[in-house]
Amino acid sequence: MSGGVLVVGGSVGGIRTARALRNEGYAGVVTVVEAESHLPYDKPPLSKAPLDGDAHVPLLTADEASELGIELVLGRAAVELRPQAKQVVLDDGVFLGYEELVIATGAAARPSPWTGPDVHVLRAIADARALRVSLRGANRLLVVGAGFIGAEVASLARKQGIEVTIVDPAPTPMARVVGDDLGQRFSQLHRANGVDTRFGATVSSLEQVDGGMWAELSDGTKILVDAVVVGIGAVLNTRWLESSGLALEDGVECDEYGRVAGAEHIFAVGDIARWYQPRQEKAARVEHWTNAVEQANCVAHNISHPYSTLSHDPVAYVWSDQYDWKIQLFGTRNLEGSPAVVEQSDPFRLAAVWQDSDGRASGGLTVNWPKASVQLRRTIAAGGPAEQVHAQLAGTAVQA
Ligand SMILES: Cc1cc2nc3c(=O)[nH]c(=O)nc-3n(C[C@H](O)[C@H](O)[C@H](O)COP(=O)(O)OP(=O)(O)OC[C@H]3O[C@@H](n4cnc5c(N)ncnc54)[C@H](O)[C@@H]3O)c2cc1C
Repeated sequence: MSGGVLVVGGSVGGIRTARALRNEGYAGVVTVVEAESHLPYDKPPLSKAPLDGDAHVPLLTADEASELGIELVLGRAAVELRPQAKQVVLDDGVFLGYEELVIATGAAARPSPWTGPDVHVLRAIADARALRVSLRGANRLLVVGAGFIGAEVASLARKQGIEVTIVDPAPTPMARVVGDDLGQRFSQLHRANGVDTRFGATVSSLEQVDGGMWAELSDGTKILVDAVVVGIGAVLNTRWLESSGLALEDGVECDEYGRVAGAEHIFAVGDIARWYQPRQEKAARVEHWTNAVEQANCVAHNISHPYSTLSHDPVAYVWSDQYDWKIQLFGTRNLEGSPAVVEQSDPFRLAAVWQDSDGRASGGLTVNWPKASVQLRRTIAAGGPAEQVHAQLAGTAVQA
């Protein structure tokens, strides 16, 4: 097999690239190589679908692949890239040639420091299914790491009546994303939903015993639990690129068109890609779903229309569902400065606006407030004044 577009990685970045190539009218061969044997599926539902259901949401069915003329090579990992020869080597020794290569191998969960049948990370469908099996008869869950995934799993477990303890070395949950002031509200959210919160603490040891596991925390507390979820970040899947000569410091370095630095006919999208962002005047890597989709569309356009290329300069966007909060985050947030907050109690909704040094709205957060999300996103994209959007949101909250 050779020629056409070869996409390595069959999750949202890779599959959306393949689909978008067809939307753009690309008529050549499109091949997607994916290390997992499952048909492509989406990741956000893994931490959001109810624990008593299946979290599998397909990104591309076998029928769709055949209708679109997308060749799926499942259960095969790329182990080497040879840019001079325009070839990718697979783990069964097969060489695949390409005219254009799209790197979309994303990230894996940072491995748990402990192992055991009821100790889980959450990145792939197999993880989600194993976690659901563990929690079927469980009464007590320990969540290590209070970022998006830890918080969402805690929320799901509480809905099932499972006792949850959440541990994070940071003083508040989501502190690295929203800062300490708003982080306090996320602490309260966990506590209001009956979670035992241990912020500013770590897990010193985890010991398997009859009837569960004893977790010892850095403050000396011992907790007996049935299952553990470790959500402590991700590590990039760059090993197969190590001998390629590509620049790999914190991801694959790309320009604002998705072209990999120093290489020809190679693009990268999604969690693994560090694109130059003109708005921020620097390269940045974004580990969010919408970013992967937008970069995929941009790269598919640029491969299909090489003489009218488009750049991608996003207002970063991520959502999260935690208990009864629908959270949306936008743009960049200067966590040293405090955001201006608008809040309403009945029904509860909240919006926060961060500003840059020139007073322009640079970042935002909303809870249960879709209209404020639209307004904030537009203002940030247009570089509008933070004070004005804050005043408008405050006015809307008062009227409601
Ligand atoms: C549980 C969970 C919940 C999430 N929730 C949200 C959310 O609510 N909102 C949001 O914005 N984002 C969310 N995200 C993040 C979002 O899912 C990611 O940003 C997105 O999946 C990135 O897509 P990607 O295609 O770049 O990489 P990945 O999804 O990491 O996929 C990379 C693919 O490449 C494959 N691969 C790796 N190495 C090789 C190789 N050598 N050869 C072949 N294939 C390989 C992998 O098997 C994988 O399928 C969540 C992520 C997780 C794990």
